[in-house]
Order: sequence, then structure tokens, then C-alpha cells
Amino acid sequence: MIKLSITYSKNMIIDTHVHLNSYENILKMSLKERLKALFDTMTKNSIDHSFILSSYKVNHDRPSTAQILEITKKCDNIGVIAGLSIDNHTDNDYQNCRKWLKDSMIKGIKIYCGYEHYYPFDKKYQRVYDLCVEFGIPVLIHTGDTFSKKGKVRYSHPINIDEIAVDNPDLKIVMCHLGNPWIIDCQEILYKNRNVYADISGLLVGDVNFRSEKCLIDKIMELIRYAGEPDYLLYGSDWPICNMESYISFVQKLKVSQSQMDLIMYKNAKKLFSV
Ligand SMILES: [Zn+2]
Repeated sequence: MIKLSITYSKNMIIDTHVHLNSYENILKMSLKERLKALFDTMTKNSIDHSFILSSYKVNHDRPSTAQILEITKKCDNIGVIAGLSIDNHTDNDYQNCRKWLKDSMIKGIKIYCGYEHYYPFDKKYQRVYDLCVEFGIPVLIHTGDTFSKKGKVRYSHPINIDEIAVDNPDLKIVMCHLGNPWIIDCQEILYKNRNVYADISGLLVGDVNFRSEKCLIDKIMELIRYAGEPDYLLYGSDWPICNMESYISFVQKLKVSQSQMDLIMYKNAKKLFSV
């Protein structure tokens, strides 16, 4: 019997979730060098297109959306998703986002519930959702465990997404990281709400071993069985936190058909982000 994972051919790969941040010992170099490192790893792994997500913080380790737009302006294979801080954003930041959207410079907005200790249904976020609907772009929301110990996970639990999905039926929402470890809750939100998508980024950090991989593959397969044809699932790695090579190899182990794999690896992203 031929295993589907082996017959999978790399038609195209869109990585919907990468960063140009440096973290502790990862990517400690200039912004220009970090971008070069991204291109090198994209070339090595045959990634056709990547979306760079800016952070809710701006500092030496975390470039602003404006810096990322400037450094990538001549790169056809890069899209930018603007991270927005709900605590610190000013009307000016907001107007910048509007301007970038008008000029088709950004492809989505990312908010960091959990890191900023607000529920996604907090009224403070409504104007972000309204902006996304106005320009037909998705909002990406961090769900599940937080990389920082200062995050509070009740705010990032995937169950909270139902609230905004129902109240904003025209809003397209991407739950980043499948709400890990609450993948079972994430699958219900995906099954129930046609305007919700999820990316599979950031699930395997550090040493990838067979057991951790297998456990996650089983959980994702259960999600697909429950939520149906994966027209809501997006490939994303969370590079540089995750290794691109091992991430692709991990996702290729999903026991799905070639057409379903194509949906996950690029077709859903193409449609959602109008690439
Ligand atoms: Zn990320």
C-alpha cells in the first residue's frame, strides 16, 4: 500500500505565519540579515510565498510593520500582516493600517489576545474587526498557549472565538496555532463557523521527536474528521521559532489526500489572502 504522505508532491507552499523577530538565542542579527535568513530557508524548502507577521511590541528584537514593509517592498513573494497592540496602539497606528490597506500593502491584521490580557470579544477590538470587514481581509488571532509566561491563557482560549465569529458574520478569522493544546475546542469552532480558519503553526517547538509529532498528527486528523473537508486549514510554521524543514516534514505526515494537502499547503491561503 502506498502511503499518501509519501506521494504528496510539492505543488506550491505558502507559509502563512513567519516572523522577523529575534527570540532569546534565535536570529540575533540585523533585520536585513534576518530577512536574508528567511529567504535562504524559503529557497532551501521550496516555499513560494510567506506572510510575515509583525508583533504587538516594537523594540530592537521586534521590527514594526513600517520597518517590515520598507525592507520587503521589492519582494514579490512576501506578504505582510500587521500586528496591532490593543493597549498601545494610537489613532495614528490605526490610520496607518487604514492607509496600508487602501494601498494593498498589508494582507491582514494580527491581534495578540492572551499576551495583552483582553478577550477577543472585548469592545476595544471591534474597530479592528470593522476595518478588516471593510477591506475584506482576515484578522489573525493568537490562540492557545502563549510563548511568554506573562501571557494569560484564558484570553487566548479558542472557545472565545465563537463569540466574535457569530457577532461578525462577515469577518474572516484565523485562529493561529489551532488553539493548542485546546485543539478539540478549536475543531468545534471551525465546524460551527464558516467564517473561521486556523493555521497549524507553532505546534512543534524545540526538539521534534516521533512521539510529539504522532500525537499532534492524531489530534489534527481528529479535527479534520470532525470539522470536515479542510478548506479552513492553513499551512504556517511560525519560523524562526519552528524549523521550516521539520515543520514541512511534520505536516506531510497528515493522512490526507493530495487535493486536501493542496488546500492546506496553498489553496486555502491563496483564496483567503488573495495572493
Ligand atoms: Zn507566531
